[in-house]
Formats: sequence, C-alpha cells, structure tokens
Amino acid sequence: MSCMKTTYIPTIGLEIHAELSTKTKMFCGCTNAPHETAPNTHICPICMGHPGTLPTINKEAVRRVLLVGRALDGTLATSSEFDRKHYFYPDIPKGYQISQYAYPLVSGGSLAGVAITRVHLEEDTARSLHDKTSGSVIDFNRAGVPLMELVTEPVIHDAKTAGTFARELQLLLRALGVSDANMERGEMRIEVNISVSSSDMFGTKVEVKNINSFRSAEAAIAYEYARQVALIERGEYVVQETRGWDEVRQVSVSHRKKESSHDYRYFPDPDLPKLDISSIPEFSKSRLDEMMPETPGKKRIKFSALGLPSNMVDILVSNAEAADFYIASLAELILLKGNVTDEDRRKIGNYVTSDILGYISQHGDVSFANASPKTFAKLLSMLYTGRITSRVTKDLLAEVVFQNSDPEELSCERGLSEQSSPEELSAAIDAVLAEHATVAREYKGGKESSLKFLIGQSMKATKGRADPSILKDLLIEKIFRNF
Ligand code: ADP
Ligand code: ZN
Ligand code: MG
Repeated sequence: MSCMKTTYIPTIGLEIHAELSTKTKMFCGCTNAPHETAPNTHICPICMGHPGTLPTINKEAVRRVLLVGRALDGTLATSSEFDRKHYFYPDIPKGYQISQYAYPLVSGGSLAGVAITRVHLEEDTARSLHDKTSGSVIDFNRAGVPLMELVTEPVIHDAKTAGTFARELQLLLRALGVSDANMERGEMRIEVNISVSSSDMFGTKVEVKNINSFRSAEAAIAYEYARQVALIERGEYVVQETRGWDEVRQVSVSHRKKESSHDYRYFPDPDLPKLDISSIPEFSKSRLDEMMPETPGKKRIKFSALGLPSNMVDILVSNAEAADFYIASLAELILLKGNVTDEDRRKIGNYVTSDILGYISQHGDVSFANASPKTFAKLLSMLYTGRITSRVTKDLLAEVVFQNSDPEELSCERGLSEQSSPEELSAAIDAVLAEHATVAREYKGGKESSLKFLIGQSMKATKGRADPSILKDLLIEKIFRNF
C-alpha cells in the first residue's frame, strides 16, 4: 500500500450575471427599476407574460453587451437570435425565459488572464416574496430587466484567481457604464462551478448559487473543494447538482439535481426577429470603440508605469474620480515644476489615496467634484521647494483642495510660509523643555516615547513650520546637554 498522499486540483468555471442599467426593460417599454420598493409599479402585459403580447428588442442592451465583448477582446456575432429557455417557476410567467443559446452576442475573449466562453443577453425574472401573513407573492418590477450572462472556461484553479477575475469584471462593467454591478444589491451575481480531480480528467462539477459577495465566492470554492475531496477520500462520488451558499453557516447545501440543457427545450423565439448585427451602424466595431472608455486593465498599466506601488494603483483603478484628480494634479504640477520625479508622483498618489480620500470619506459634504487640482499642485510645489513643511502641507490640504484657497495667500496670512529660523526654532524648543522638564528627564532616562511628545509640542510651538528631522536632532542635543 502506498502512503503517498493524493493531491486534488480544483477546477473552477464562473457564470456571472449582471443587470444592465438601461432606461427601459429588455423586451418592453417599462422603466428598468429593479430596486423599486412599491411592488408591481413598472410592469405591463409584456413583462408579465400575458398571452398574445409581442416583445421588442432593446437595442441599447444589445449594444452594451457588444461593448463588453470589445473590451474583453471577444468575437462579436455578425448575426444572433433569442431563444426560449423553458422551465416552470412562478417568477417566470411565460413558462420560459428569453435567453440566447446557440448564437451568443460574444464568443471568446479574456479578462485578468481568464479565458471567456461566451457573453449573452437574457431577461431577469420577477421576484417572489414569501411571508407568513400574505403567503407567497410576486413582484414583477424586476421581470424583463436586461441581464447579461458571462461564462468562463473551466480554467481557474484557485479561489483567489476566481475572486480577482470577478472583481476585475465588476470594475470593467462600471467603467463601461453598462451595469452598476453591485453584488449586495443583486446587480451582479456569481455562480461558481467547481470540480476536483487528481488526474488530468475533469471531475464531476457542482454549481453553487446564492453568492452575494466576492468573499463568499472565495469561501464557497474553499468549502466545496474540501467537501468534494472528503467525499472522494471516503470512496463516495461527487453528485452533479446545484447547491446554494448558506452565508450564515458558511456551507453549501444541496438545492436540486442539475438539469441538462436538453431539459430546457431551447428553440428560437418566433416572436423576435433574427438580429442582423453587422447591418446595424451602432453595433459596428468602430462605433463601439469610439464609445470605449479607458478600461481598468489599461488604467492599471498606466498607473503602474508612473511608478506607483500596487496598493495605490488598485485604489486609483477602482475610483475613477480619484484617478482623474490624480492625473489632473500631476499635469498641473508638471506645469509649475517643469518635470516631476518618481518620488513626486508617489507623493501625490499618497496625498490623493490616503489624505484626500480619507477626508472625503469622513466629510459627507465634499467630493472630488469640488476638488481643485490647480491649488493642490501649487501647495505641492511649495512643499517640494522647501517653502512649507509637510506638516503645514497636511494642515492646509483640505482648505486648499476643497475650498480652492490659494496656498500662497493662506500660508502668508497665517505666517506659515517660511520655515522657522534656527534662532526661532531654538527658542521654541527651550520653552518646551522648560515647561516639560520632567518629560525631558524621562527621555534621558531611556523612555523613548517621551521624545515623540516633545517633538509634538515643539511642532505646535512653531506652527508646524519646523523641519521635523532638524527639530528632532536639536531636541536630543539640547536634552543631553542641559538635563
Ligand atoms: P452546463 O451545461 O452544466 O451549464 P457548461 O458546459 O455550460 O455546463 O458550463 C457551465 C460552467 O461550468 C462554465 O463556467 C464552465 O467553465 C464550468 N465547467 C464546466 N465543466 C467543469 C468542470 N468539470 N469543473 C468545473 N467547472 C466546469
Ligand atoms: Zn413591461
Ligand atoms: Mg450552461
């Protein structure tokens, strides 16, 4: 008997749905408002599935999926069609969902190194609500909302890659303006398919649904991997099925045996025309590319090339307003300073991603919309030329950035514009030491933290106009000489 431990490799493929934020629904003129709280207010006979009604295709929804296809570098269909996918459920009043089967709008492509199988367009279902007093009721506001489905190839082999892919897709959908893609609000939904195998043959896959955060997607993968390996090690089989993620217990639970595609009896919807994509001007590659904003992938390359560390790049890539403010400020600084160094670029990045973003998140009344790159760059150039200290820079930052105040005038008015003279600094330190003699003795006696306090006090006494390193040296020197 071998005592070698078998290693099991997980294989993962993702199916991701995203509600498109178009004005109207997919096949009727109803307002697309899936979060409307007054039930059944954005409905009509078409999206309620009344017999005899005729759907019409929302062109903008098609255009958005094609735009996603261009961003993924996938192949756009030259013609396409919609199919009926049959199943019974109270939230699907027609008895079928209009989807795409044989001719998806987009085939192939990739994102974050993950190969994509297809992207197609379908309609969202109604919402069923269950409660004790009214029993089960249906709200049709969400019925017929345009829903994009993206399917990846089974090429992912760890939870982290799956999470990274899904996060990047969210950024992309937002950058393209096609979906708000909020997972908590159900605007983006991830289904995870996972199998494990110890050979080069794929194992039996299990699909996990009801995942409402990226973290849960990663947790579901880890959980399923362990569950499936344990089954196999016990000599049992993994059953092909759909499971649901239980967020509270952090486990997956069996929902139903998975049906195969032939159970759905797909066939082309006879009520809808074939889509002759190549004959519609708005769907041409050149028109789509004209509408293409800078994708998160391109932004990442750009900010990395500026020499910014990856944590800063991630913040700027996920926050378009911060990114635009960064670029505008950099441009202003180049005008003022002639050229900027890697160090300058990192410093601006640091002010933008930590100080300014931090200020915005603490103060609800300001945003990058009222931030001024011009005055901010002026403040930075005063710092770089040594006319103000970094302490003063931080103190003036909010006023300069959000109230458009001229840093030159501000620092002049408040007497902050020059560094303290050596005499002024020396006098300030003497005063601080006289007042806090005990603390100074503590420091001399070995209490490191006392020095921090004394530096803070001296900084205050000079209104932050001292160079911190000079101040520190001077303090230490005086303490050891006089105490
Ligand atoms: P189904 O017909 O059951 O829907 P598909 O072939 O359409 O299966 O694949 C659905 C998803 O499952 C895709 O994301 C695909 O990458 C993934 N998938 C397919 N086979 C496997 C497997 N053996 N292990 C993990 N994922 C898989
Ligand atoms: Zn409608
Ligand atoms: Mg499938």
